[in-house]
Amino acid sequence: MIHAFALLAFAATLSPTPTPTFAPSQPRPSNPAALERALATISADEIRSDLFFIASDELAGRDTPSPGQRIAARFLRARLQRLGFEPGDEGKDFLYEYTVPRKRIDEAGTTLAAKHGETQLSFAYGKDWSFYTSQDLEDRAIDAPIVWAGSGLDADLEAAKPSGKWIACRDGKGSTGKRRRAAQEAGALGVLVLQERKGTIAPVDERFADILRSLREGSISGPAREPAKDGAPRASVPCAFLAASSATALLSAQAGKPVDADYEPALGAELGSLALSSKLADKNGGLELENVVGFWPGSDPELAKEVVILSAHYDHVGTRRDVVYNGADDNGSGTSTLLAVAEALSQYGPLRRSVLIIWVSGEEKGLWGSRAFASAPWFPSGARAVADINIDMVGRNAPDKLLVTPTDKHEKFNGLTRIAERLAVEEGFPKLGSADSFYSRSDHIEFARLGIPIVFLFSDVHDDYHQPGDDPEKIDCDKVARVARLVTRMLDELQGDKLEL
Ligand SMILES: [Zn+2]
Repeated sequence: MIHAFALLAFAATLSPTPTPTFAPSQPRPSNPAALERALATISADEIRSDLFFIASDELAGRDTPSPGQRIAARFLRARLQRLGFEPGDEGKDFLYEYTVPRKRIDEAGTTLAAKHGETQLSFAYGKDWSFYTSQDLEDRAIDAPIVWAGSGLDADLEAAKPSGKWIACRDGKGSTGKRRRAAQEAGALGVLVLQERKGTIAPVDERFADILRSLREGSISGPAREPAKDGAPRASVPCAFLAASSATALLSAQAGKPVDADYEPALGAELGSLALSSKLADKNGGLELENVVGFWPGSDPELAKEVVILSAHYDHVGTRRDVVYNGADDNGSGTSTLLAVAEALSQYGPLRRSVLIIWVSGEEKGLWGSRAFASAPWFPSGARAVADINIDMVGRNAPDKLLVTPTDKHEKFNGLTRIAERLAVEEGFPKLGSADSFYSRSDHIEFARLGIPIVFLFSDVHDDYHQPGDDPEKIDCDKVARVARLVTRMLDELQGDKLEL
């Protein structure tokens, strides 16, 4: 499960997916004997043994990328091979490889300079100024007037009439992200935040040390999202912070005399023009990452072209300051659920439709693996996805607590939820709660981009969420087994002649 704030940067570019129509369906196991055989293979003890490996200290929290994660991927692959799955990516031996670009700042090509009348000021990157976040670094050149916008918010911003200009503002109350959004909405081209007086706040090179380092060493950015439907790029306007001494020089040029940092120009006053040029350089061609994908072909000549995706992320957040974040619930539980279902399918034999089991990486970094797959999915020739069941964090909280999204209160509600609700009763989950507030927080939202109905099963966050205490001994393996049985029942249920979800 990804942190909510990590998603904010991408939220604006999500493209809408079609809403499936819902037709109620009755329980109809297509093959009761096979289903019983499959369910009988699922045991809490076997799930426990998988989970204790996946969430072991030796895998070091399965960060994307890391040696521990690559070992986990090979463990999952070995299981698929042993169970008789076909590789879910032709020629790739069960590993769906994707590349995430790395970007690095080209410091020689990145400059910031102001001009006011005869006064020219050029600011040294990393000393006099810094980008606010690594997302601010793009290939771009902006040379435009700069106007004083006070707080940078509300009435101050409005009075500055910032359209087509930079705004300069104080580093005061309210978040910088809010200033940036407000400026962008008002048509501004960029935001220059003036650091408060000298001595009251850390110098730029200390305050932004992490950003400066990551941009110099090469920060990692996920696979690009498709542009919004209207084709308009939705990149944010750049935001830069100017050191107090440089800010004073800029204000003095406007005042026409030396002033101190308290000097307050009139709202909308021009501070001359500001030119930003920033350039990216490639860093070693990017990172090679892996999803693990197995294909379970259907038996029906026609229906086998319809593929039900079963997904869970196998990555977690790694090791920080020598402390392993084991991610037993997040998402050792979902990873183990899929292993149990894979084994159940090996006993069931082929369903009428095909099943694609995928463990994705990079979920914690921003849904990278699922986005990469959804952008360039692999299916056998002539086949297509028809649904996704996604599992993330299903091993904690009360034994009968399980949440689902999209519920009937959600605009993406579909028949998968109804099927999950009905079959869950048989596995000790009498009433599924709502996970609608987590709809954008895991990989199903990327699979939904394939234009298919999705359903997400989740047993809610807890005090150990993204903490070192998310350990395997705290996992309710009986509960995970019941989730695996529920998913197996759902797959069996999805074998009617016509899927009406
Ligand atoms: Zn997580």
